[in-house]
Parts: sequence; C-alpha cells; structure tokens
Amino acid sequence: AVQLSVALIVAATHASLGIGRAGTLPWRLPTDMALFRLVTSAPGGPSTASLQPAVVMGRKSWESIPKKFRPLKNRVNVVLSRTVTDFGPGTHTFSSLSQALSALSPTPPPASTIPPVSSIYIIGGAEIYTEAFKHPATSRVFLTTVYADEEALQCDTFLPDFRSTGEWEQKPTADLRRLLHDMECHEAVQLIPEDGDRVKENGLEYAFTLWEKR
Ligand code: NDP
Repeated sequence: AVQLSVALIVAATHASLGIGRAGTLPWRLPTDMALFRLVTSAPGGPSTASLQPAVVMGRKSWESIPKKFRPLKNRVNVVLSRTVTDFGPGTHTFSSLSQALSALSPTPPPASTIPPVSSIYIIGGAEIYTEAFKHPATSRVFLTTVYADEEALQCDTFLPDFRSTGEWEQKPTADLRRLLHDMECHEAVQLIPEDGDRVKENGLEYAFTLWEKR
C-alpha cells in the first residue's frame, strides 16, 4: 500500500508553543476553527475527490470534542488509545501511531476494516503530536501561531519545540496559499491574509503558517 505523507495541524502560542489548558483549548478562534475544518475535509485534488481525509487524534483530544460534533463529519476519524478499543460508530482505533499510519492508505488491502483515505492529518494532542514529529512520514505542519500573553493564558500542554531543531523550515505565506489552492481548498485560501498579516479575534492575534521538513 502507498504510504501517504502526513501533516500536523495545530494552533500554538508563539513563545512557548502552548496548545491546551485543563483538557481543552485555551481560546476560541472561529477563523482558525473554520480553516481546520476546511483543510482537514478537503478531498485533496481531482484524483482523490471521492475519498475522505483521515484525522488522527489521541484519546484525550477525542474526549475534548463535544459529543454533538463527533465523529468529525466528512473525515475518517482515527482515535489512538492503549486502554480503549472502541470509541463508537464512525471511529477506528489503533494502539500505536505507526499501526494507524500504515493502515491508512488510498489503496488499503481488501481485508482492511478502514476505508481508503485521500490524506492524513494529525490533529492532537501533545502526546500524539510529539510522536508524529518523530515519524518519517510526517512532512508538513499547518501551524497557527497565537500571539498571546502567555502568563494569562495558563497553558498546561505544549508542543515540543520543533522550530529550533533545524529540521523544519517555515515557508512563505504565498506557498501556504498555493498549497491550499492545489488541494482545491479554495474557501481556505480566502481565510489566509495574503501578506502573512495577523487575524484579530476575541482579543487575540494569530497568523497561519506552513512548515515543511527540510
Ligand atoms: P492526547 O489527545 O494526545 O491523548 C493522549 C492519549 O492518547 C493517551 O492517554 C493515550 O490514551 C493515547 N495515546 C497517546 N500516545 C499513544 C500511542 N502512541 N498509541 C496509542 N495511544 C496513544 O492528550 P494530551 O493531553 O497530550 O493533549 C490534550 C490537550 O491538547 C487538550 O488540552 C486539548 O484541548 C489540546 N489540543 C490542542 C490542539 C491545538 O491545536 N491547540 C489540538 C488538539 C488538542 P489512553 O490513555 O486511553 O491509552
């Protein structure tokens, strides 16, 4: 089976890469949520138009999604857990990230219980992101950088500092917009300010960035 490349999609504070507080998101960023929905639901281009993307998450992130919004619609929901084997209708569970990633393919073997997928997004939380950064199939990060008073936000969950390892390169905003265009994700392109300008919402400022493995 073809090994699809894997993308992380995450919103984190600029200075400390804070992503969570008390099991939930530390903010409400409607435009970021809209971008998340559009990117993770995009078929990814004409050849894969009939397939859905997979979203891969940890058990705690699954539990943080309000019941009425899960499973996330129009996406193949994959939940990782070492303790729970079934999260209900519309979900697929694995006990390791590498098992999940090797099962997710546009051309799964006939015996596979998982539908074919067009692409793979790692959607959190910190435990899953940390492992995904180390996986060789991970090639791209959609990072929403949140400029906030870090003290006031009181995050208790953080991304590892991938930006300073030298393995990852930040791409220009034009590349992010072109990538979304090539993914036929035209509504998403409209949400990204052309010059990398920040979005201002609910008293916070944030910017959409793209990082690629060197
Ligand atoms: P996770 O969502 O990463 O879930 C952790 C759980 O996933 C573990 O307890 C375990 O479940 C399971 N797990 C972890 N690694 C593996 C593995 N390799 N194989 C199988 N199962 C595994 O939890 P975190 O606490 O790290 O992150 C949650 C926080 O992150 C919340 O505050 C959430 O709101 C935030 N978040 C923020 C995002 C953002 O973009 N800002 C996005 C997503 C989440 P078990 O114990 O059942 O074995």
